[in-house]
Amino acid sequence: MPINPSSAFAAVVFSAVFVCGTALALPQNDDNKISNHPSDLKAALKAAGMTSTTSDLPSAMANTKIAALDTTELKADAVQPTLAGDMAQGGLVIGQTRPGSIVKLDDIRVDVDDEGRFIFGFGRDHPDTAVLNITYGDGTILPPKVLKIASREFKEQRIDNLPSNKVDEFTPEELKKITEGTAKKNAARANMQQKADWVSGFDWPVTGTITGLFGSRRILNGVPRRPHSGVDVGAVEGTDVRAPADGVITLADPDMYFEGGLVFIDHGQGLESALMHMSRLDVVAGQRVTRGDIIGAVGATGRATGPHMHWSLKWKSRLLDAQLVAPEMPET
Ligand SMILES: [Zn+2]
Repeated sequence: MPINPSSAFAAVVFSAVFVCGTALALPQNDDNKISNHPSDLKAALKAAGMTSTTSDLPSAMANTKIAALDTTELKADAVQPTLAGDMAQGGLVIGQTRPGSIVKLDDIRVDVDDEGRFIFGFGRDHPDTAVLNITYGDGTILPPKVLKIASREFKEQRIDNLPSNKVDEFTPEELKKITEGTAKKNAARANMQQKADWVSGFDWPVTGTITGLFGSRRILNGVPRRPHSGVDVGAVEGTDVRAPADGVITLADPDMYFEGGLVFIDHGQGLESALMHMSRLDVVAGQRVTRGDIIGAVGATGRATGPHMHWSLKWKSRLLDAQLVAPEMPET
């Protein structure tokens, strides 16, 4: 039997990776894997003059990860709030001010807990500044703090030959299911909790090869679509999926049209994880979970053609880069 030279070449140079949408063949090089890796961000933050904001932070936060967060070291009596995290597009920032303060980020009211802890984030296309306003409980108004937001480069990802009914041509039944899914998601987000469960810190829900990056521009069957909303981790079907941080399950649906087996975890103060494409769900809405608890298993349900875990992180209406809050991915 003749060997097809192009596929033989592909077997050597390319490896199939599974992401939301389809199995992709991507060149095997570092540039395509993690071009917007956090280590690149550190340089960007430095260039953006962020050293003064982070200089007095506890060492546990110095790596800009929330994974090893020790909030007892945050300074509740600081004249300015203590801030930590990634002051960058897609970044999550944690902070502390005096309890009872009113905190606003531009026009957004930021939730503050009884210990003065708060959280906020920046979307993929956030402009290069934001203004943080804090008023103490006694009426003292702090000077507005201008935050510099580092901009990032996002990759383009082309996915061709997708079944058209997973992109833009839907039957009435499929449209009905999509509409019902949107309603379920909206209902799940209607009563999010104020408890700062995110202080547990974050772990990867699944470890493996990162096959899809947050924010990559997606061109599906030649048509530009919304950027990728999360990070994809390739893993064997049936691998345990764990809660990345403490929280409350607000949605556990095994059969969403795009997301497949979908779980929402409310980490408090407007921060939510969405874990997608699962083959099995072990939790129900209303259940409280602790970081590391098994919540289901990796699958390829919904708009996915191979088993992987998609993890999105959202603060209020802003999609954030979950990769920035998780530890370095362990070698596999
Ligand atoms: Zn994905």
